[in-house]
Amino acid sequence: MSFFINVILPLPLEKHFTYSVSLDEAQFLKPGMRVAVPFGKSKIYTGIVSEVHQIPPSVYEAKPIEQILDKAPVVTETQLKFWSWIASYYMCAEGEVLRAAIPSAFLLESETIVQLLNGVQVNDEELTDDEFLLYEALQAQSSLKINEIIQLLDKKTVLPVINSLVEKNIVVVNQEIFEQYKPKIERYVRLHERFSEEGPMHELLDQLNRAPKQREVIFTLFGMAGKGKASVKISELTKKRGASPGVIKSLIDKNILEELKIETSRFNPDLEEISGRVHLNEHQQQALQEIETSFETQDVCLLHGITSSGKTEIYVELIEKAISQGKQVLYLLPEIALTAQLIARLQNYFGEQVLIYHSKYSVNERVEVYQNVLRNKENARIVIGVRSSIFLPFHDLGLIIVDEEHESTFKQYDPAPRYHARDVAVVLGKMQEAKVLLGSATPSLESYFNADHSKYGLVNLDRRYGDVLLPEIEIVDIKEKHRKKRMTGHFSDRLLEEIKETLSNNEQVILFQNRRGFSPILECNTCGHSPQCPNCDVSLTFHSHNNQLRCHYCGYHMAMQQKCMACDSVELSTKGFGTEKVETELKALFPEHHIGRMDLDTTRGKHGYEKIISAFENEEIDILVGTQMVTKGLDFRNVRLVGIMNADNLLNFPDFRAHERSFQLMLQVAGRAGRTEKRGLVLIQTYNPHHQIVQQVSTNSYHEMYREQLEERRNYKYPPFYRLIRITLKGRDYSRVNEGADWLAISLKNTFRENILGPEFPPVARIRNEYYKNILIKIPQGQSLSKTKDLIGRILQSFKAIGAYRGVKTVINVDPY
Ligand SMILES: [Zn+2]
Ligand SMILES: [Zn+2]
Repeated sequence: MSFFINVILPLPLEKHFTYSVSLDEAQFLKPGMRVAVPFGKSKIYTGIVSEVHQIPPSVYEAKPIEQILDKAPVVTETQLKFWSWIASYYMCAEGEVLRAAIPSAFLLESETIVQLLNGVQVNDEELTDDEFLLYEALQAQSSLKINEIIQLLDKKTVLPVINSLVEKNIVVVNQEIFEQYKPKIERYVRLHERFSEEGPMHELLDQLNRAPKQREVIFTLFGMAGKGKASVKISELTKKRGASPGVIKSLIDKNILEELKIETSRFNPDLEEISGRVHLNEHQQQALQEIETSFETQDVCLLHGITSSGKTEIYVELIEKAISQGKQVLYLLPEIALTAQLIARLQNYFGEQVLIYHSKYSVNERVEVYQNVLRNKENARIVIGVRSSIFLPFHDLGLIIVDEEHESTFKQYDPAPRYHARDVAVVLGKMQEAKVLLGSATPSLESYFNADHSKYGLVNLDRRYGDVLLPEIEIVDIKEKHRKKRMTGHFSDRLLEEIKETLSNNEQVILFQNRRGFSPILECNTCGHSPQCPNCDVSLTFHSHNNQLRCHYCGYHMAMQQKCMACDSVELSTKGFGTEKVETELKALFPEHHIGRMDLDTTRGKHGYEKIISAFENEEIDILVGTQMVTKGLDFRNVRLVGIMNADNLLNFPDFRAHERSFQLMLQVAGRAGRTEKRGLVLIQTYNPHHQIVQQVSTNSYHEMYREQLEERRNYKYPPFYRLIRITLKGRDYSRVNEGADWLAISLKNTFRENILGPEFPPVARIRNEYYKNILIKIPQGQSLSKTKDLIGRILQSFKAIGAYRGVKTVINVDPY
C-alpha cells in the first residue's frame, strides 16, 4: 500500500503537487497541516496539505516529504474551500492565495532568513537544547538562513525548532523592513455591569462598609464617570486621593471593577464622551429592526446611511447580538490608520474581545493574531481589520460588516490574488452561514444595484444623528470668476470670503484637492518641453519643499532645473496645481494662521498622519489642505467650511467609474462640515457648474446619480451589466509587448468577437522601464463566467507556448475596478 498527499505550495503553480508519505504519516496528517517538502532542484518549501489519498501521480514520481511541521491543522477546511474559490474566481493559483492568506512566518523555506527579535529577553530554562543553540548563534551573527541552521544544529529537521522560537516570540523570520507598529495601550476601569441596578449596587456599598478605602475609590469613580458604565483611565483615577494602584487592583481582583485595556487612538479621542452605551434614536432603532428583518430572508443587507447618521451604533448592537450567540464577528474597514476614532469606540464597547488586524503589523504580530483566531480565543470574538483579514481562520462567523463598502482600497491590485474584499466577504459569509452587512453613505453602484434588484436587502437611514443638518452646498463657477478677475491664485473671492468668516469665528476649514488630477509640472514657455522620468512615460512633478522634480511611479528624482534642458531658456513655469501649491498660496494669504497639509508626502513617516490629525483636532491647525485622505470617516467637531478646490480634475479622470467616484468623494468630504448643531457650508469650485455630478452632489441626490450612471453603464456595456476581465501584458521589449498583445487580442476576438477591447496602451504606458498594454474582456449577462474563464485560460496557455513572446508577462485582473 502506498500513501500520498496533495500539497499546496506557495508558488504560482496551476496544480497541487503530490508527495509520498508512510502509513504512519498518512494516518497522522490532516488537510490544513504544514509539511516541508522538496521542490525543484534543491529547494525546500513549506506547503499545506490539501488531501491525503492513495492515487500516485501519473506524470512524475512522487518524492517523499521532508517532515511534518504541525500537530494540528493551521488552516481550516473552510479556508481551503475559500482559497480554492478565490483562485478559480480571480484566475490565479491557490499557492498565490496561500501566500496572501497566512502569515509569512508560517512559510519557512530554504531561503528564509532568521533573526533575533529586537531586544528580546530570554529565560534559558524555557528553551530546548536546540533552541538554545540557535539562540546563541543568533546573538553572534545577526541572521542565519535555514541551510546554515541545518549545519549548525547538524540535523535536517530544523523547522520545528524555528517555529517554536517564532511562537515564543524570540526570533523573527523574513522580517521585512516594517515600521514596528506599536499600539498605545491605556488601562481603563469601570464598574462591573452587574452593579448597574440599584439593588446590587446597595449591596455592594454595604459590603464595602468594611473596606473604607475601596468604598472611597468607588465614590471617586462615580464622581469622575457618573453612575453609568463610563470608564475612567487608571492613570487619572490614581491621581485622586486614596485611589492607590493597590486598592484599584484589589477591586479588579474582586470583580467589582472591570479592567479594560484599550488601544487608544493615537490622537486623543474624547473617550469620556464616547464611553458607555449610546442609545439608539428612533431612526436608528427602526433601521436596526429593518436590518434584522431583512436577515430573516436574505444573507446580505445594504445599509445606506448618510454621513453622521450613526451607523456605528447600529453595528455595535448587531455585533453584541452575534457574540452573545457565541459567534465570531468580522468588521472590515478600508484602512485602519484612518479610522482610529472608530476603533477606540468599538474597543470601549467591547473591551478585550476586540482584535485588530492592522496593515502595519509585523510578521510576529500577524502570527499572534492568526493563532488567536484559530484557537478561537476569547480575545478574538470580534476582529476589526483591513481587507486581508478575510483570510483569518474563523470557526463560526455570525456576522461580517463591510464598512464604507464603496471604498476602492478593498480591492487588491498587486500581487495576485487580485480580490475585492467586499465581494469575497459575501462568499465567505455564505460558506460560514454568516450574515453580511454592507454600510455606506454613498454605496457603490454595484451594491446598490444588487439591493435594487432584491439580491440584497436594503435599509435607509437618512437622518443625521441628533438631527444635525446636512451642510449647505454651494457651487462656485470659476470660469466666470476668472473672467471677472475675481480669482486670487486658485481661490475665488467667494471661497476667500468664507474662509475669513470661518476663521474669524475661531472655526476650522478643510480644503480638498485631489492629487490624481494634475500635479504641478514644469514647462518651458519657449519650447514647451517638460522634464520626463527616464524610466516611466510621465512628466516629473515639482515638489517645492525640497526643490525637486520627482516621478510618482518609480521615485526617480532630480534637482529642480534653473533652465530648460532642451533649449536653455530660463522662462520656466509650473502648470497645474496640487496640495502643496494650495498650501503655499494659503500661507501667503493667511500669514497669521496655521495651515496643515495631509497627503502621501506628509503622512509617510511613522506617525505623520496621527500628528496632523491630532494637531487639527486640538485646533493647532486652522486650515487643513489634503487629498482624498481628508474624506475618510474623521469626525472633527469644529469644522464649519469645506472647500473643494477643483471638481473638474476628478470628473475628467479617464475611468468608467470617474463620475461615481467623484460623487462619492465630494459627498464624503462634504460630510466633514458642520457635524454639530451649527450648519456647515461646502463650496465646490468648478469650471463646469452645470455638470450633472456637481449638481447631484449639491442637492445630495444619490438616487438621481445612481439612475443616470446606471443608464450610462448599460449603454456603454460596463458593470453591473457586463463583467470585466483585464489582461495586462508587460515586458522590457517594446515590440514584443506590442506584437504579443496583438496576437492575444486577435485570438480572443476569434472567440469573444466584439466584446474584446484593445489592445491599448494605458495612460502611463511605461513604468520602471517596462511597457504595458491592456486588453479588456467584457462578459455579458447570461454568458457563463466559468466557461469564459476556461476559454481565456486556454488562449493564454497557447500564448505562453510561443517562443517569441517569452519575456512578456501576463497579468489577469478579474473585476479590475
Ligand atoms: Zn525649452
Ligand atoms: Zn519613473
